[in-house]
Amino acid sequence: MGGFFGVASKNDAVLDTFFGVDYHSHLGTRRAGMAAMDAELGMQRKIHKIENSPFRTKFERILDEMEGKTAVGCISDADAQPLLIRSNHGLYAICTIGIINNSDALVKQYLSFSGGHFGAMTTTGVTGINASELVAAMIDQKSDFAEGIRFAQDVIDGTASILILKEDGNLIAARDKVGRIPVLIGKREDGFCVSFEDFAYKKLGFEDYKELGPGEIVEISADRVEVLSPARKKKKICAFLWSYYGYPTSCYEGVNVEVMRYRNGQIMAKTDKLLNIAQGIDYVSGVPDSGTPHAIGYANESGVPFARPFIKYTPTWPRSFMPSNQRERSRVAKMKQIPVHELIKDKKLLFVDDSIVRGTQLRETVEFLYENGAKEVHMRSACPPIMYGCKYLNFSRGTSDMDLISRSTIMELEGEEGFKHIDEYSDASTERGAKMRKAICEKLHFASLEFQSLEGIVEAIGLPEDELCTYCWNGKG
Ligand code: SF4
Repeated sequence: MGGFFGVASKNDAVLDTFFGVDYHSHLGTRRAGMAAMDAELGMQRKIHKIENSPFRTKFERILDEMEGKTAVGCISDADAQPLLIRSNHGLYAICTIGIINNSDALVKQYLSFSGGHFGAMTTTGVTGINASELVAAMIDQKSDFAEGIRFAQDVIDGTASILILKEDGNLIAARDKVGRIPVLIGKREDGFCVSFEDFAYKKLGFEDYKELGPGEIVEISADRVEVLSPARKKKKICAFLWSYYGYPTSCYEGVNVEVMRYRNGQIMAKTDKLLNIAQGIDYVSGVPDSGTPHAIGYANESGVPFARPFIKYTPTWPRSFMPSNQRERSRVAKMKQIPVHELIKDKKLLFVDDSIVRGTQLRETVEFLYENGAKEVHMRSACPPIMYGCKYLNFSRGTSDMDLISRSTIMELEGEEGFKHIDEYSDASTERGAKMRKAICEKLHFASLEFQSLEGIVEAIGLPEDELCTYCWNGKG
């Protein structure tokens, strides 16, 4: 994924930007960067790897290194950003979030007429081109930023939200064409900020000013926000923001993530009650961390106590510590899970996970619970079966379709023919749906398995279904 934050202020903007970007650290683990514009010092920029130490540690000396009344920064799971670009639009810094699926074609097309070039990279992308550089090349083909960004939005197959710091000290922010990810504007006495997460700016004393609509482009100075291009009509915000990767304290489209998760768990518990399944459960638990709020909602509705039969030991394990070899990865995952024996031995446990993607990790967690004496481990997925890998975001869970446990199970059950009946497999009440659930239960050693329904999760989010991207579940993006 990735996230960005920018400030245009009457005072120095670097410290606010530093804290604002830091509050986006949950959105990426590879690179982070900041840029600031100062009338005397000009454009300044720093980029660091954050794979082994967090943003705050890497940028703690930023106040000695940068000055400016406007600044931007980003956390990135992919390329190094912000990039500094000198073009027909002057000097500017650019950060982008998203994914460009047709970068090969765009690069080829650009090179065929421009006589220009791109910096070649060895570490990223299909084309080995930095995505922000490619977006900048699209923007620079037109006579001003607004026209250039609209052009980029139209030719990019994928998603690109854009934050630009201009040489004149103004910011330009653009939400991706269908608003798959949020871009919010905050307001404070001395200026404005741009952010992915609203809590990030509220902690810095900014208040809600506006949430950009799909494709909307604005120019921001310390005094005003000017709309350069209005919102487009079609909206498809990522539903996974609420169920998995959004920060619990965040609100997107006015809907808080934590509250949506309670509601989601509540709906699943009501359905189980109605169908009279999962009786005699001793404890309801969440697979940490993002399964937990769904489980709280489930427990509150069902009346079964919530408990944490195992707790992750996190203080000494950086989130991004990831040995390259699978055996060691599994070992690290196991070492983090510390059991509370009194809550496991001879107990019937019902766990709620945010989603079930490949199931590899979950199978190990369930084995660990049985090894520690659990009598039964039931599983609930807080979202419908994942049938398609995400093609719209640079999502750390982005995976090939056949790695998805729902797909691979369908393949085992009836081969390619099964993919013509995805809707039936998603639906627990059909014969195919029941068979898929049974097969996954056997593979992953669950006593029972249910998935939240599409209607259930849409109800929990509370927005019209046609404004949500639900591609992962039903192929409608
Ligand atoms: S495909 Fe899934 S993860 Fe990707 S944008 Fe759509 S809902 Fe979000």
